[in-house]
Amino acid sequence: MVTRRTPPDPVSVGAARHTVRPSVPEGLGLASDSARRRMVEGLRAIGIRDADVLAAMEQVPRHQFVEPGLASRAYEDVALPIGHGQTISRPSTVARMLEMAVASVPRGQRRTAKALEVGTGCGYQAAVLAALFGEVVSIERVRGLHETARTNLRPLRLPNLRLAFGDGRLGAPSSAPFDAIVVAAAGDAIPDDLLTQMQVPGRLLAPVVRQGGQALHLVERVSRDSWQLTVLDSVRFVPLRAGTV
Ligand code: SAH
Repeated sequence: MVTRRTPPDPVSVGAARHTVRPSVPEGLGLASDSARRRMVEGLRAIGIRDADVLAAMEQVPRHQFVEPGLASRAYEDVALPIGHGQTISRPSTVARMLEMAVASVPRGQRRTAKALEVGTGCGYQAAVLAALFGEVVSIERVRGLHETARTNLRPLRLPNLRLAFGDGRLGAPSSAPFDAIVVAAAGDAIPDDLLTQMQVPGRLLAPVVRQGGQALHLVERVSRDSWQLTVLDSVRFVPLRAGTV
């Protein structure tokens, strides 16, 4: 189980930091490290096996990507509001998607592989991607969120991550092809531009609206002209919208 009924309380996080190691800066406390380790144990328990994905999720401080009032819930397996009517995805959803996204790249080659994220939101998943891939582009259509992500990500200093403001349905042609594309919002179909920006072989994960709900779609580009689709479990993401705001 990933859901934690007794999330770490930011007050006790601060208190523990104060008594154990007073000089540790904000957000890097021992208590948040152990909460994150427990989150990763939970991910292992639900079947996440990829060692790179588990290590990346143990590394990225999720509590620094949510509003301060929600930091105590950052390591629970829940989606949380990030403003502008959007949400940060549940850790188990991020882990499942990224495990499938990296699967076509052998472990030794990931540091030279390229990934695209559509829907930066608060920037959390972009940071996890940057820990997994050699080069990452992440696009957001809401300017306020694009700026929030920039602020959240600055302290992590990730030189291999580029944030772009724009309509992610068009992808990032100047950086294509991508070994992995992860779409964090649900559209009626997978945009053609994203399909043509996939590497061969390459993988794309995207929630797609289907029969009143949404299903996670896995697309594998098997050759220049052929793509293989697998429809996976039902999911719930915010909508993929056109244009920018
Ligand atoms: N990956 C994010 C999840 C954010 S929710 C995280 O880790 O927090 C999905 C995001 O997709 C929202 O911020 C929404 O504004 C954005 N989005 C929706 N349609 C989009 C589009 N066409 N291009 C880029 N971003 C889009």
